Amino acid sequence: MTKSYQTYVDGQWTSTGQTMDVFNKFSGEVFATVPLADGALTEKAIASAKKAYQSFRKMPAHQRSAILDKTVELINKREAEIAAVISQEVGKAWKFSVNEVQRSAETFKFAADEAKRLHGETIPVDASRFGENRFGYFIREPLGVIGAITPFNFPLNLVAHKVAPAIATGNTIVLKPASATPVSSLILAEILEEAGLPPGVFNVVVGPGREVGDAIVVHPDCKKITFTGSPAVGNQIVRKAGIKKVTLELGSNSATIIEADADLEKAAARCVVSAFANSGQVCISLQRIYVNRQCLDQFTKIFVDKVKGLKVGNPLDEDCDVGPLIDAKEVERIDTWVKEAVKLGAVVATGGHGEGRVYQPTVLTQVTEDMKIMCMETFAPVVSIVAYDSFEEVIDLVNGSEFGLQAGVYTNDINKALQAVDDLDVGGVMINDTATYRVDHLPYGGNKLSGLGREGIRFAMEDMTNIKMVMINRN
Ligand code: NAP
Repeated sequence: MTKSYQTYVDGQWTSTGQTMDVFNKFSGEVFATVPLADGALTEKAIASAKKAYQSFRKMPAHQRSAILDKTVELINKREAEIAAVISQEVGKAWKFSVNEVQRSAETFKFAADEAKRLHGETIPVDASRFGENRFGYFIREPLGVIGAITPFNFPLNLVAHKVAPAIATGNTIVLKPASATPVSSLILAEILEEAGLPPGVFNVVVGPGREVGDAIVVHPDCKKITFTGSPAVGNQIVRKAGIKKVTLELGSNSATIIEADADLEKAAARCVVSAFANSGQVCISLQRIYVNRQCLDQFTKIFVDKVKGLKVGNPLDEDCDVGPLIDAKEVERIDTWVKEAVKLGAVVATGGHGEGRVYQPTVLTQVTEDMKIMCMETFAPVVSIVAYDSFEEVIDLVNGSEFGLQAGVYTNDINKALQAVDDLDVGGVMINDTATYRVDHLPYGGNKLSGLGREGIRFAMEDMTNIKMVMINRN
């Protein structure tokens, strides 16, 4: 049955003249409709967030923390319902949808805790010979209206990564979720309302990025834009935003290095999850596996055997490992990339074809660095295995990418591990794990084309505040 949702602006549930269908990405059937925002509703959302800011910025930290704690409780209570929505609107396998809901609750919990710890510092002013008899300290103040624009692949937790720190710091929010996956954020609005968030603090506008997203980015009352999505859109946003804070969480073609002294069984098992969770549609999905030639055949066999055992199909099935891609066009795109690689000499170890909306988990060998499936973000269940001979060589190969989000290194040699930490040009190095590891309070973000700034609750909160310096002259 199709469920009709209203959108949430200025503490009111509202409809607009137009609705948009939301599809179950596996069956292709419409399972929900949502109101499509126009320019007037977007303007109203920003105005209501601006008005609500005047009182919300003064709400005591313990009250903001209590709202966030209540949000955690309500998300947990609705876990199965929200997971079912995520599995339908994203096509995410059930177990990963449940995991996303649980992580989202944790994200809000970290924000509830951090809301009580937001503080400034005293400054030893007399460290300067011109600073005697003066007392100085700084405080952190919220910015005002935060414009949040989010992608389709984690429609709850990546929204949580923007909304929770904004609330924790006393900011107000206008959210534009991805058009393919707006329902999770409307459920979050229900939860925040029930948790006691004052009207106007959180507003949701659903509509095309080029219109609704753009209107938020250029609006002078949006004091910060926090964006997660593709590098192409991130690049447009940073050019258009003007003088305001911008955080960009963008894509990558993440790599993991497997040294010969690693536990190959354990490494292969983690690499399978890292490459194929959410059908490879994760910003830190494992796309390039660099394996020391000494253990290449052994690792490849263990890995490919495990990939062949993955269950592909309906994401609502509890034992599903790999569901559909977000869009049938994405199946075509990745199939073209794989076929192009094969023409250039790549070998398909398993997979290599699509079936309807699903692309089979695919492992390629004999690839070269210039193939699209290596140097561009695949965002699909396709991973490549490449042999290397020396640790210096593999560091250069990983760094050869124009992206730099995270990287993994499996080794028991502490010197190699520390060399990787020193020399990899990425935002996070995971030793004895894959590039795909994340828990939600870590500082998280990329170098190079992978982004600007860091999320992870405390770090997002710092970026959602301005420092105000206070000086008291005792002379
Ligand atoms: P996308 O196409 O860039 O869209 C992201 C958001 O931007 C959507 O809400 C989209 O709206 C909106 N948008 C599109 N054009 C816009 C414009 N001109 N101005 C303002 N907003 C605009 O990305 P996606 O396909 O949803 O997500 C996949 C990408 O996100 C991948 O590259 C992935 O690596 C990246 N990602 C990064 C992270 C991270 O933390 N680093 C996490 C997850 C995903 P519409 O939906 O209406 O087009």
